[in-house]
Amino acid sequence: QAKREGRACFRRFTSELDKHIQHLRRLESDLREALAKKSGLEVYYQPLFTTADEKLAGMEALIRWRHPELGLLQPEEFIPVAEESGLIVPLGDWVLQQACLMMAQWPDITLAVNLSPVQLREENLAERIVEILNEANLDPSRLELELTEGAILNTNENIRTCLKKLRAAGVKIVLDDFGTGYSSLTHLQKLDVDKVKIDKSFVNDIAANDQSEAIVHAVTYLARVLGIPVTAEGVENSRQHDLLRIIGCTEMQGFLYSHPLSAEDTRRFLADKKKWTHVA
Ligand code: C2E
Ligand code: MG
Ligand code: MG
Ligand code: MG
Repeated sequence: QAKREGRACFRRFTSELDKHIQHLRRLESDLREALAKKSGLEVYYQPLFTTADEKLAGMEALIRWRHPELGLLQPEEFIPVAEESGLIVPLGDWVLQQACLMMAQWPDITLAVNLSPVQLREENLAERIVEILNEANLDPSRLELELTEGAILNTNENIRTCLKKLRAAGVKIVLDDFGTGYSSLTHLQKLDVDKVKIDKSFVNDIAANDQSEAIVHAVTYLARVLGIPVTAEGVENSRQHDLLRIIGCTEMQGFLYSHPLSAEDTRRFLADKKKWTHVA
């Protein structure tokens, strides 16, 4: 009896797994097609504001995929497939191209683009990024590449050389989602990063949980001593905003100020200078 039930359960499990694998295969072939046709993929932009004067500091590019049958897909639903299949390389280039062309029309603000560790393994990544910047006529010092600790900590010589080349060209390296990886405060000093983004899970807890507040405090304090600006991501309410301002975060990003905007809404947002100054 138990044995039979076990077998039935296992069959159910393997059929679920089959379905999941089929779904991933489908996403991969659909993504390949979307990239070839350049259709369905969209770059959204989320503003970042300075804490001190509540002015627009920059925009972060965030990919979306309007799938013909599955609807609007968030990056978490297809970035893993893109990484697994290597499609993240052409996809990453495309996001960077689109975002650079968009931001070249709006001087004075920075452009943040997320980079997958898989992209970093590409031999000529630094050269390609510089080429894309040149083609779009965007000053390299306006580009911030957001990487997670896992990617930056990699001791691979090629990756270190690549990051060095990018920094030498003027591009800034940002440590994204700080606190979620093997985070250690000593990394802040050892890694050559130009900015740190505190993960939204800490920001989310900050007003309710003393430990999260203490962590954000400690990270921000150390970063300030080291001369590294700190961004808080995922700011959703004014209590979090007020605390983060007191703690001394340099920049803020979150639904409180703006959700990620479509290209069209981004142009409208940027055209309306009044929106560049936010009063929380
Ligand atoms: P991330 O770089 O840490 O981006 C922040 C994520 O938090 C975004 O999710 C953003 O929409 C969301 N967010 C912003 N403000 C708030 C808030 O106040 N509350 C909450 N709950 N969430 C907020 P999104 O756009 O779904 O992106 C998820 C992740 O996918 C990104 O995390 C990034 O790691 C990755 N990603 C997005 N676009 C790209 C891309 O072009 N290339 C690569 N390699 N990765 C990307
Ligand atoms: Mg990011
Ligand atoms: Mg982040
Ligand atoms: Mg994140």
